[in-house]
Amino acid sequence: MSQAQESSPGIVIIGSGMAGFTTIREIRKLDKEVPITLVTREPGYSYSKPMLSTALASNKNAEQLISTNAEGMADQLATNILSNTEVHEIDSKQQIITTSSGQVPYSKLVLCLGSDQIRLPLEGNAVDSIMSVNDLEDYAKFRQAIAGKKRVAILGAGLIGCEFANDLAIASYEVDVIDLAPQILGRLLPKEASQALQDKLSEAGIHWHLGTTVQSLDKTVDGLSVTLANGKVVICDVFLSAVGLKPRLELAQKAGIKTGLGIQVDRKLETNIQNIYSIGDCAEVDGLVLPYIMPIMQAARALAPNLLGQETMLTYPAMPVMVKTPALPTIVSPPPNGTIGQWTISSVDGGIEALFKSSDGKLLGFALLGAATAQRAALTKELPALL
Ligand SMILES: Cc1cc2nc3c(=O)[nH]c(=O)nc-3n(C[C@H](O)[C@H](O)[C@H](O)COP(=O)(O)OP(=O)(O)OC[C@H]3O[C@@H](n4cnc5c(N)ncnc54)[C@H](O)[C@@H]3O)c2cc1C
Repeated sequence: MSQAQESSPGIVIIGSGMAGFTTIREIRKLDKEVPITLVTREPGYSYSKPMLSTALASNKNAEQLISTNAEGMADQLATNILSNTEVHEIDSKQQIITTSSGQVPYSKLVLCLGSDQIRLPLEGNAVDSIMSVNDLEDYAKFRQAIAGKKRVAILGAGLIGCEFANDLAIASYEVDVIDLAPQILGRLLPKEASQALQDKLSEAGIHWHLGTTVQSLDKTVDGLSVTLANGKVVICDVFLSAVGLKPRLELAQKAGIKTGLGIQVDRKLETNIQNIYSIGDCAEVDGLVLPYIMPIMQAARALAPNLLGQETMLTYPAMPVMVKTPALPTIVSPPPNGTIGQWTISSVDGGIEALFKSSDGKLLGFALLGAATAQRAALTKELPALL
């Protein structure tokens, strides 16, 4: 009998990222006995994904980012962990999932599947050497690729691209960042704040190619040649793509679970199919896809009681996100999409405070840079709840 067939029905969690483990932790605070099985295609260790983009500066390799191995997590959480196990199918009528190591029955199923990095279709004879970092195994490969090399080109000047750029620059790599948008972190920062961060990152040695994109990536004797749409050519040793994330939807869609941008759930974190729930980067909660840690923590506190039969509605307070760029630490709480209002930007000693307010003066969002980050707690209290 396989490892999977031996497990008893109970709560089954798919995915060993922050969402999967946090959900189990919250369940265990309420119930020490309920059987829990965690199925994951990863090795089942626990690591902090946000540290992937700061590991060079903190002098850690991929292995050192693992806080607890699968055995330790299984003990700590009294959970049966089926690691290196892919889930292929969900049969919601029989309440059984089919995995690469057999079938697993469930009473409640939680999809914590995360998201995939978006890959832009690029041309050239070196497209198979494009790297992206979305988990620890990717990161181990990336560290191997940059070892003994000097030049890294990054496609994407969003949160992840800028954080990797700063981390690589701290470790003395030559970094070029390319983005179609005319400003960095365009979705999170108003123009002046974006320019201030860009300037500080330039001082740290980062070169920018904004308002253009990559046409082709080719091998040359001197490394990889990146031809940009504006005609320029950048030479690098490693090419990292960081253009955004898309929630993993396929497994849910095959099972008839409703999806939009993410796996759609209500404020109890339940999908349209009874006894199937979703949380984390793959989930769209009441219309919101928020691929960050704080929403996971918040959602897991509501999900756990729901899984144990106590109806609980999720609420989201404002949850600012830290951009881990030591060149100019930045905290953002962007106004919700479609909100009407205006940015006011003021310089404070050693920083910038950008406040987004409605016409009647209500604070709806902010971006705090450098010394202004000290205002985070006070300003967060003024923001309206997201849900
Ligand atoms: C470099 C980087 C830096 C970041 N920095 C920050 C930050 O500073 N602050 C912040 O708030 N957020 C940050 N984030 C985002 C944050 O890390 C994510 O929101 C969070 O880790 C997502 O957790 P998750 O559990 O939803 O997904 P994941 O961690 O992606 O976990 C998904 C799990 O599902 C498993 N899985 C998927 N499909 C299957 C299948 N079919 N069968 C079995 N298993 C499957 C995967 O193997 C994995 O174990 C960062 C992200 C990155 C990449």
